[in-house]
Amino acid sequence: MSEIIKTEAVVLSKLNYGDTSLIISVFTELYGKISVIIKGGRNPKSKMGMIADPLNHVQIVVYKKDTRDLQLLSSIDTISHYPRIKEDLDKTQYSLAIIELIKKLTVENEVNKKLFKGLVRILSLIDSDNEHPSILFGRFYLFFLSELGYALQTSECGICKKEIGKNSGGFNFDTGFVCVNCFESHPGLNFASAELLNYFFCLNNKISVQNISLVLLKQANIFLDRYTKHHIPGFNGIQSLNIFNNFK
Ligand SMILES: [Zn+2]
Repeated sequence: MSEIIKTEAVVLSKLNYGDTSLIISVFTELYGKISVIIKGGRNPKSKMGMIADPLNHVQIVVYKKDTRDLQLLSSIDTISHYPRIKEDLDKTQYSLAIIELIKKLTVENEVNKKLFKGLVRILSLIDSDNEHPSILFGRFYLFFLSELGYALQTSECGICKKEIGKNSGGFNFDTGFVCVNCFESHPGLNFASAELLNYFFCLNNKISVQNISLVLLKQANIFLDRYTKHHIPGFNGIQSLNIFNNFK
């Protein structure tokens, strides 16, 4: 069976294929993550090849045949190319990190309209000067983890289930965050500062983040990286965001 499908999409990656063509991976609104071929896309005159750049929010039409693994792109139009992201190194890095999460941790052909909407929304927030891109990255990351089924609980203690409150506490990657009483009575837990707990609480509850230090943002990103590696075996961290060395 063959059909013509039309959907919004965000371009995740672009690879050369054969002598003249391109393969792009896209996260689409209606069909999840798919790969499509752009015949002749490497020709400098190919408009489709130019539009199909990673990060771009596009509308695509695909000629889909069930007997083929690779589907054929028949048209692509720009909805947004996020000009302010591309002229700012920090914004570019965090946006590419988000794209990398989608590329690595979603399953081919698995539809998730809510995730698609969240992805487009976070890219437009990074494009407008809403908040530091690292904070927006953190907001998206927590949303994404909950979509994957690994929500990071920031309100109730992972052991006694009471409210964590505004104090410092503890964590390990199995129990998640725990209250200060459980931290003191259970050996083997790591310390979590009140600032770190409060930061994640704000991210989870759509509260604006005030006066945050870059050191804390870095700690939070490292935490998310390790949390994800713990829960998703095979995840090797985000390569496009060098959060351990070049954090700005
Ligand atoms: Zn507790």
